[in-house]
Amino acid sequence: MSAYLELQGIRKQFGNTNVLNHVDLQIREGELVTLLGPSGCGKSTLLRCIAGLTEIDGGQILLEQKDIVNLAPRNREIGMVFQSYALFPNLTVAENIQYGMKMRGASKGERRNRSEELLALIDLEDKRDAYPQHLSGGQQQRVALARSLAVQPKVLLLDEPLSALDAKIRKNLRTEIRDIQKKFNMTTIFVTHDQEEALILSDRVCLMNKGSIVQQGTPEELYTTPRTEFVARFMGSYN
Ligand code: ADP
Ligand code: MG
Repeated sequence: MSAYLELQGIRKQFGNTNVLNHVDLQIREGELVTLLGPSGCGKSTLLRCIAGLTEIDGGQILLEQKDIVNLAPRNREIGMVFQSYALFPNLTVAENIQYGMKMRGASKGERRNRSEELLALIDLEDKRDAYPQHLSGGQQQRVALARSLAVQPKVLLLDEPLSALDAKIRKNLRTEIRDIQKKFNMTTIFVTHDQEEALILSDRVCLMNKGSIVQQGTPEELYTTPRTEFVARFMGSYN
């Protein structure tokens, strides 16, 4: 397998606590991998390390075979969506979507074309001039997704993007995210603590516990062939 994004031996400590213990992970172009695991196992920290928001203590992060560890976050070509929407409250929907493009010097015309395209994709064309506070949680999260796609990242990191939403909206948006991800052939890491979400969404699931990936495989493999009791319990293979 030729990896598009490859993590080699990623280590991170906070104080004396090892939060990531030599994490290795290879992701193919266009693949959607979920990082699944209990709260506190290191999922968000791993995403933040990939995005460059948290410095690693050891290891390598290769994107298209190039080490990106020493690049600033905005030069890594990696987009990230957080659990809480984190839109700029004082900017309209269209301005939020265009923000990163503006920072990178895209022309006004280019920005408008791209944001109209993305607004159509997330079906929020009528909200282009609205402010985030006037949108529902699900709508805000779609704008956050559009905003990270606007700069055409090579990799998209989604940190529990659905967990603040209620069940029905969560299910709809889950399908929408998968459709968009496939349409763009976007290499994506999707973090969740919800095994059902992981089983439904992913090409591959990586189950984490205490800073390590304890088993990875297709959703079916993890569910039907758990290697440890922890995996079996977490995947709900027992009834
Ligand atoms: P998850 O996203 O899987 O719930 P996190 O990556 O947020 O887990 O956290 C993993 C561990 O690292 C937790 O024990 C958490 O308390 C700790 N941690 C995360 N961020 C920091 C930080 N900035 N300083 C100290 N400890 C942190
Ligand atoms: Mg987290």
